[in-house]
Amino acid sequence: MQQNELPLVKQVLPEYKEVHSQVLQDVLKRLDKAFQNFFRRLGTNDKAGFPRYKGKNRYHSFTYPQSGFVIEGDKLRLSKIGNIRINLHRKLVGEPKTCTIIRKNDKYYVALVCEVEKPQVTLTNKVVGIDLGVAHLAITSDGEFFDNHKYLRKSEKQLKRLQRIVSKRKKGSNRRRKAVRLLAKKHEQIANQRKDRNHKISRILVDRYDLIVFENLNIKGMTKNKHLAKSIHEVAWRQLIEFTTYKAENAGKVVKLVDPRNTTQICSSCGAIVKKTLAEREHRCDCGYVAHRDVNSAINILKRGLSA
Ligand SMILES: [Zn+2]
Repeated sequence: MQQNELPLVKQVLPEYKEVHSQVLQDVLKRLDKAFQNFFRRLGTNDKAGFPRYKGKNRYHSFTYPQSGFVIEGDKLRLSKIGNIRINLHRKLVGEPKTCTIIRKNDKYYVALVCEVEKPQVTLTNKVVGIDLGVAHLAITSDGEFFDNHKYLRKSEKQLKRLQRIVSKRKKGSNRRRKAVRLLAKKHEQIANQRKDRNHKISRILVDRYDLIVFENLNIKGMTKNKHLAKSIHEVAWRQLIEFTTYKAENAGKVVKLVDPRNTTQICSSCGAIVKKTLAEREHRCDCGYVAHRDVNSAINILKRGLSA
């Protein structure tokens, strides 16, 4: 109904004529989606959370849902706006369908959603279990270790320092605003590093294995951890599972999540319980089986995935 009112709105408020009509329609689609989600949450145990009014300070992106944008070399032509020089991070694959302009930390980004052909499935007949850790981001049942981005530790320290500065500055002051902006930039940088790393690892896993088994983090119940370092790791783990899952779906492979309880203690060779403290990095069982603690755990995770 509101879409049908747009021509009338344009008559009363001529500035709306300067916006591409589909961009305006998309705003209403977003609003509709926000309400649909709200109504859906009402029926569940989730906190409903009424849709929030997005004033100009909260509205950070707009979308051309079908047309009105063309990419030519290093230029993006937007209807009603004009030519903009862009830095294309990778070659476009497939047919661009939607174009979203996003403002984030005083920088502008363009997100293009493209339609691509479904890739052919090439199976490898290999399966893997993944243990997620702090010292190493991911450890496989094949004994492979994937580390965090090498700059992450440094960034974490800088993050803590910036947070301290923000909390010391007076609320509402210009100096605090500046510090908040620096903190936001640091968060963004860390997020980009994490994303980059997780894209690479998930690509390797999906190319190499047909079945990838992770521990189900929701069962692990770590979300209540207030510790900064821990929460940073948990975000990374969740993202790795998320990236691997969607890449696997596109490649016709399978990701499974299993209950991680006791996977560190059980001997993956004989099934006996071998108690160990956090400091013990080695699994050494009376049956004679010796392995890196996390590799033993990854093998148990794989076993659960195969038997489930
Ligand atoms: Zn054993």
